[in-house]
Amino acid sequence: MDYKEIIESVYQKVDTIENTGELATYIPELATIDPEKFGVHISTISNTNFGLGNFQEKFSIQSIAKVLSLCLAYKQLGESIWNRLGVEPSGSSFNSLVQLESDNGIPRNPFINAGAIVIADILISNLKNPREDLLSFIKSLSANKNIAYSPKIAASEKSVGYRNVALCNFIKSYGNIHNDPEEVLDFYFDLCSLEFSCEHLSELFLFLANNGQTRQGKQILTKSQSKRINALMQTCGFYDESGEFAFKVGLAGKSGVGGGIIAIHPNQYAIAVWSPKLNKKGNSYKGMRFLEEFTTLSEQSIF
Ligand code: GLN
Repeated sequence: MDYKEIIESVYQKVDTIENTGELATYIPELATIDPEKFGVHISTISNTNFGLGNFQEKFSIQSIAKVLSLCLAYKQLGESIWNRLGVEPSGSSFNSLVQLESDNGIPRNPFINAGAIVIADILISNLKNPREDLLSFIKSLSANKNIAYSPKIAASEKSVGYRNVALCNFIKSYGNIHNDPEEVLDFYFDLCSLEFSCEHLSELFLFLANNGQTRQGKQILTKSQSKRINALMQTCGFYDESGEFAFKVGLAGKSGVGGGIIAIHPNQYAIAVWSPKLNKKGNSYKGMRFLEEFTTLSEQSIF
């Protein structure tokens, strides 16, 4: 499969479409990003690596990081994490509060904010130095060790993080947050502030296309755990647009309000796309379009 040729042709096509959508202006720092940035990078199991556009520029990965924190919690604690949150698509927006009351504070899945906040709480309870330990875990996923939180982005989100504060306190009222809400939220905002390039991101996530094993041969998750993370990305990775992503793209994936998307084809590749303007569901407009065209032209999707 000549991914290079396919990516070149799809990039050119999608680059010319009207870039509708909005920046994630609810986080002040994200409102300052150049909306015309557009990058893509693929990393394959057979060691093809190819990128185009702004693929070497770092951007705020936001909710894509929820996959990394989930993988660490799953690795450390195994199936017991599912006592604290579910594995069902929510059909609601990423920051919704509505289902938590009827679900008694048990978030539907780990990729909505409520679920990622519970995972942050689990990590705080089980790690000595959660912030540092998460970075070490991420460093173990690829050869690139250049990883840091962005204090500027974390502070920017914290300054307006009223909804996440509400979510965390609401879940705490049901007993499903065990630590101090402020500590949990600070860790959650740090997690969301991680910045990577498309190139680095596709390298990081390749282990999920490779049955839980990195290119360097390190077994990060078991085969079964890796399958399950992919299943969750497939069913919940795009919030109330997860069905649409499965329907049009047909890959396991996860989006973030920084405009990034990571998508996985098990046993084949990980591909990262970045374009900051978001559609109404909070997912990258051009990123979705790119991946739809990419799986159409390559005829390489899970289904
Ligand atoms: N940090 C963002 C928030 O909590 C993450 C949301 C996202 O990327 N969908 O609102």
